[in-house]
Amino acid sequence: MSTGSSYTRVLLKLSGEALLGTERDFGIDETVIRNYAQEIKSAVDLGAEIAIVIGGGNIFRGVQNAMKGMTRAHADYMGMLATMINGMALQDALEQAGLQTRLQSSIKMEEIAEPFIRRRAIRHLEKGRVVIFGAGTGNPYFTTDTAAALRGLEIDAEMILKGTRVNGVFTADPEKNDDAKRFVRIHGDEMIRRSLQVMDMTALTLCRESAMPLHIFDMGMSGNLNRVLQGENVGTQVHWNEEAEAPYVAEEA
Ligand code: UDP
Repeated sequence: MSTGSSYTRVLLKLSGEALLGTERDFGIDETVIRNYAQEIKSAVDLGAEIAIVIGGGNIFRGVQNAMKGMTRAHADYMGMLATMINGMALQDALEQAGLQTRLQSSIKMEEIAEPFIRRRAIRHLEKGRVVIFGAGTGNPYFTTDTAAALRGLEIDAEMILKGTRVNGVFTADPEKNDDAKRFVRIHGDEMIRRSLQVMDMTALTLCRESAMPLHIFDMGMSGNLNRVLQGENVGTQVHWNEEAEAPYVAEEA
């Protein structure tokens, strides 16, 4: 395999909400998912092993209104099923793009997905298959960010990439504030201190304990995933390195 990637194995977290694209408020935008598949194909061609955790917000939040008053745990299981719908859609798009894939689920549904088996997932990755982890952690009261941190650690990923709709973490909301600067690099503790909402606390704490680096970037911009994998300056790198010279480095104005 080509070695254009600076990383051998990464865990890519894709939010369900990003699958909405710009026109929809429910479901999956065909163009977005097809573009994602192309981006992931390029990353595999670069030589990276890619595992993916996908969220469910695009489907789940659409039905949340109808669920007012529902027991939390019950609703969370519905959320986990929503991630499986996205996982199946992404699997199909990836295979249409020419990739080999496996979908593993944290909740047993053997007709459509393998159960999550850590060693098996690693073997698939070694063979160049893209592995999608669906159904979150399999437990209510968690999020798919936490599933990404957990699975990323389990499969020995070198970094968790969070593909979102914005190009990283900013000092202020870039849509409302012209002076907002992108953090190029930031220490995880500094991010927590500033209450920058990048991942929920459970996910961050897991990353912190194992010094798992994160990279937040705009997955909607063509070529960005490969740029991150090649170490280019896009998005925001979150590190846990105590020796780092400054708690953060912000973009030049
Ligand atoms: N969920 C859960 N346990 C998990 C992962 C997800 O209960 O380990 C549920 C939870 O209700 C969550 C929903 O599934 O709100 C969809 O996941 P999430 O909100 O993280 O998706 P995203 O915001 O990334 O689209």
